[in-house]
Amino acid sequence: MHDILVLDIAGTPVRWVDHESAAAYYSSGKVRWELGADRVVLHGGISRLHGRRSTLEIAAIIAIDGPRWKVRGGEDRAPLSRSMVFARDRHICAYCGGRFTQAALEMEHVTPSSRGGLTVWQNVVSACRACNQRKGNRTPESASMPLLYVPYVPNRHEAFILANRRILADQMNFLLAGVPRHSRLWASEPPPDQPAAASAIGAKKRAPHASGGRGRENR
Ligand SMILES: [Zn+2]
Repeated sequence: MHDILVLDIAGTPVRWVDHESAAAYYSSGKVRWELGADRVVLHGGISRLHGRRSTLEIAAIIAIDGPRWKVRGGEDRAPLSRSMVFARDRHICAYCGGRFTQAALEMEHVTPSSRGGLTVWQNVVSACRACNQRKGNRTPESASMPLLYVPYVPNRHEAFILANRRILADQMNFLLAGVPRHSRLWASEPPPDQPAAASAIGAKKRAPHASGGRGRENR
């Protein structure tokens, strides 16, 4: 089941919510405008106002009343998680270039934590276990393991894409409109001999679970 994308009144993404939470926004009158052709019809939801069972149509994207979302401290505050880092890096090991399932990847600190490296978007990459172990507690330079790509900070719109693996086309189009062109989300389609290497955009549109359940490839 897909989540609903919640925006503030000015159209800034605020959070992903499940259908129940979205329904609560509707029943409390907080939804100001909606986007998206795909609508979910909820049956039997209980109105918090009247206690009656009701039918409710929920849009894929809703803007809610309330204070405008304030982005504090700039874009490097975009929340960071292992799975988001793997999605940003398109499940490609930064050292050997192999493509792996999420379960086979580790979040690797370019400058190791023991040397003062922080857990920030610019200092973490996806690495397979073998590369992570080989690099160990060294910098890429001292390990002679140069990075194959530069880790970057996703902007807010991209972070919302990375955080959710089941995104409807309308939601994806809305979020992509705010993703800068340097993002790897825009990377071109891979060669046909790498079937699992569909672009992040295409994979999300075609198959919600495209990035999971695969074996080691491209080795
Ligand atoms: Zn590797």
